[in-house]
Amino acid sequence: MKMICIQCQTEMITDCSVTVEGGMFGIKISQKGNKLFNNISAVPKSAVCPNCGNVSLYIEEYKQFKK
Ligand SMILES: [Zn+2]
Repeated sequence: MKMICIQCQTEMITDCSVTVEGGMFGIKISQKGNKLFNNISAVPKSAVCPNCGNVSLYIEEYKQFKK
């Protein structure tokens, strides 16, 4: 997946991991489903712009999330 920085339109470095400082744990994005056991969750990755330092979070499982 190719990501372009929204600040300066430089191609960003993707696939960086997101963790909470001081811990082994990352963060998780989830959406509650309508039914039980129908919850969707994804571990976000980050992209870093090598030009201006902008950081962007994204998930690869975005198609599983519904409006
Ligand atoms: Zn940038």
